Amino acid sequence: MAPTPVRRAIAVFLLTALLAPAACKSAGPDPIFAGPDVSPTPSASPSPSASPSPSASPSPPAVKSLQWYLDKAPKFGPAPAPHRVKVPESASAMWLFKVPTTNKVAFITIDDGALSRKPEVIEFIRQAKIPVTMFLNSPAATKYTAYFKAIQEAGGMVENHTITHTSLKGKSYDFQKKEICGSADKLEQLFGRRPTLFRPPFGNKDATTLKAAHDCGAQAAFFWTQTVDKGIVRYQTAKKVVQPGDVLLMHFRPALMDDLLGALNAIYKSGLTPALLEDYIG
Ligand SMILES: [Zn+2]
Repeated sequence: MAPTPVRRAIAVFLLTALLAPAACKSAGPDPIFAGPDVSPTPSASPSPSASPSPSASPSPPAVKSLQWYLDKAPKFGPAPAPHRVKVPESASAMWLFKVPTTNKVAFITIDDGALSRKPEVIEFIRQAKIPVTMFLNSPAATKYTAYFKAIQEAGGMVENHTITHTSLKGKSYDFQKKEICGSADKLEQLFGRRPTLFRPPFGNKDATTLKAAHDCGAQAAFFWTQTVDKGIVRYQTAKKVVQPGDVLLMHFRPALMDDLLGALNAIYKSGLTPALLEDYIG
């Protein structure tokens, strides 16, 4: 006998109720674009080890291997020579949604760090030569330093996203400075370079944030122009195309491999090349 619709509805409801707290608890992802949040991946199979063996056996499409992503990734020509952005003398960090450039480039940024760190991401970034900027929370960077260092060694850059991922807007200068400088100090200690860029959690900021960011060593603070989640690029404007200087935001979430691939495809289809944010600013 099939379960009655009512019984099935109750089961679905209970399951949803059960899963909801787990999804919300992930302090990392910015709730602005939480949508139907990260479902706890029932990863029956352990993540494919990022073994450097070139003879990785072809895997079924259900389990997408590193090689599958490498094969699917568009092949870009060399990025144009970067033009550095002129940062005006100011007591505050510059606030930017995108990089003011006419170069046919776009930028990939990955935020947070506490929620998910797939090992294959490191090899994807290294082998596909994906330029990435990581805006990290310092406790995650402290706990998983080896992981983020590996991405740094693959060409990625580490930048600042506060200590506790608290919304800074409206908070006192001392509070904001503690969040921003405290994280910058730690990230500098861990990665050997003081962050020169800052992204406020949830994109929430005020004039105090930009002042504190400047005082902690940031030249610019960034919002974004597109978000990428579960491999899908969401555009902030009606024109569904990546434009020169655009900044794509994704997170260290379970679907980051798909997000990176989605971003690369969107950039490629728009006739652009991915470039490193720090070659332009910071
Ligand atoms: Zn964040």
